Amino acid sequence: MSESRALGVLERVFGYESFRGDQQAIVQHVIDGGDALVLMPTGGGKSLCYQVPALVREGTGIVVSPLIALMQDQVDALTELGVRAAYLNSTQDWRITREVEQEFLNGQLDLLYVAPERLLTDRCLQLLERGHISLFAIDEAHCVSQWGHDFRPEYLGLSMLHERWPDVPRIALTATATAATRSEIAQRLALDDARHFVSSFDRPNIRYRIVEKNEVRRQLLDLIQSEHEGDAGVVYCLSRARVEETAEFLCNNGINALPYHAGLSAQVRAQNQSRFLREDGIVMVATIAFGMGIDKPDVRFVAHIDLPKSVEGYYQETGRAGRDGLPASAWLAYGLQDVVQQRRMIDESPGDEVYRRRLGQQLDAMLGLCETVECRRVRLLAYFGQTITACGNCDVCLDPPEAWDGTVAAQKVLSAVYRLGRERGQRYGAGHIIDILRGKSTDRTRQNDHESLSVFGIGADLSETAWRGVLRQLLAQGLLTVDTDGYGTLALTEESRVVLKGERQLMLRREPEKKARSGRGGGTRTKAPVIDLPAEALPVFEALRAWRGEVAKSHGVPAYVIFHDATLREIALAQPGSIDELGHISGVGARKLEAYGEEILRTVSSPRL
Ligand code: ADP
Ligand code: ZN
Repeated sequence: MSESRALGVLERVFGYESFRGDQQAIVQHVIDGGDALVLMPTGGGKSLCYQVPALVREGTGIVVSPLIALMQDQVDALTELGVRAAYLNSTQDWRITREVEQEFLNGQLDLLYVAPERLLTDRCLQLLERGHISLFAIDEAHCVSQWGHDFRPEYLGLSMLHERWPDVPRIALTATATAATRSEIAQRLALDDARHFVSSFDRPNIRYRIVEKNEVRRQLLDLIQSEHEGDAGVVYCLSRARVEETAEFLCNNGINALPYHAGLSAQVRAQNQSRFLREDGIVMVATIAFGMGIDKPDVRFVAHIDLPKSVEGYYQETGRAGRDGLPASAWLAYGLQDVVQQRRMIDESPGDEVYRRRLGQQLDAMLGLCETVECRRVRLLAYFGQTITACGNCDVCLDPPEAWDGTVAAQKVLSAVYRLGRERGQRYGAGHIIDILRGKSTDRTRQNDHESLSVFGIGADLSETAWRGVLRQLLAQGLLTVDTDGYGTLALTEESRVVLKGERQLMLRREPEKKARSGRGGGTRTKAPVIDLPAEALPVFEALRAWRGEVAKSHGVPAYVIFHDATLREIALAQPGSIDELGHISGVGARKLEAYGEEILRTVSSPRL
């Protein structure tokens, strides 16, 4: 019975024909009153997992979300669908708060979004006691994990929901979770009896590429100009300063870029975020402070110009590309300096030994991904405990790197580090070591009499890029380490000696030199048209987009809240002649059909008007 009700809601309200993946099972489980822990990649369709049960069950669904800045958009999107939704957070004045509270008490809300700190206030808890709750949805549930970078202490208080409302089903959702994080979430939210729904984390439409960093801003610009001209994208940087300078660089080169980091005022952040969501083709240059909960479906690329700190964070950030299922890029540029810098940051980070060791392990996993000669996606999913076969849509699959025997080269590097390490009080970084190996005479080599060392010039056979690759890989594999002196001085490790003594053969990844030079990244320049339409459908599609733009503007919502590109594409293809035909198109629910049906039919029949 409720099975068909759920499907009915999916069709009528959301305009979708069928559930995807685990959605049906999850929805059913929650409708039947069960607790659930849902792990689905970004873009997998988590929202429906609580929205549909909230519409089927009696009462109001309470959605706990840390994303105050997005609540208005979320509620607007639901209102467009005809769902009775509202939110309570600190941005509202008391009059609106009163109204929302009254609506809740009157049973006039299907969904109510609340920030966790708000939920835990006495006033809010008492309010909830007096109303009728259909379910609790705990969105972004990984915020409860103390090891993650999105940790929110307020989330720890949410285990109380279970004690206070033992009969109300709870559904916790997240796009990021290794097995360890998953059990941490279950434990901290007291989800002991919850069923776990773990979807495939694969996002086949995202093309993964990791390139060697040289002039990174130029490489980034090349990527955008050659493959993503006019596309919306996110560029992640590690520091605020880097965000600022990169955004400025892109703007100076004709790219519509905006900065976003925690150092900007709340107002500027909100404004930039809103422009990113509402305008076409904006590139957001940001720290990881940006992006959680951004459900913009048409982000075409996510670029990292600094090495992310963990695979988990990286996967979540890249997952923000291509939520609409159309082709998208995840592009990361990384180099020797990233490894040195991050190792140093870990050494200097506050926290105990256990904490630093954990950071070190996370970095190692990230480096392993960067240096792999195996399919990137195989590696990524393995991190989440999932197995797939080579994907055919990553740089390694498309342009397999060669492996070469780097044992002798490694021995040369390690000997040079060893020789220099005996000079007390001296600090030599990677650049100097490479100069010595290549026999390049510089002020430093002359002043320090390094040209008389036996290792001087023993590596003239390899280019500087190649040597950087060797050093980087030695660092990545723990065969070299960065001294804790704060200067990035290289030092040997226990493992180094095994290689020096010739007891271990070392296979390395060959740097594709020409490509790295030209800055073309993975080399594939062909841009697949994202909206693939026959010529006769194009004017209709464009007319629909223009119409959508007007409506979105007058409603003050992002265009995709009115209709997704994918829906407009289908309309342009089908060219429906009646309301009934239009209603069969995926993404056109009852409310939108009623509100916009006539205008769409008019636009379709005379696109030029
Ligand atoms: P998540 O929160 O997991 O990142 P969303 O809930 O935002 O993902 O869903 C991603 C996109 O997929 C949305 O645009 C949504 O409308 C669409 N979607 C979700 N479920 C379905 C479905 N069963 N059929 C068609 N489209 C769906
Ligand atoms: Zn692959």
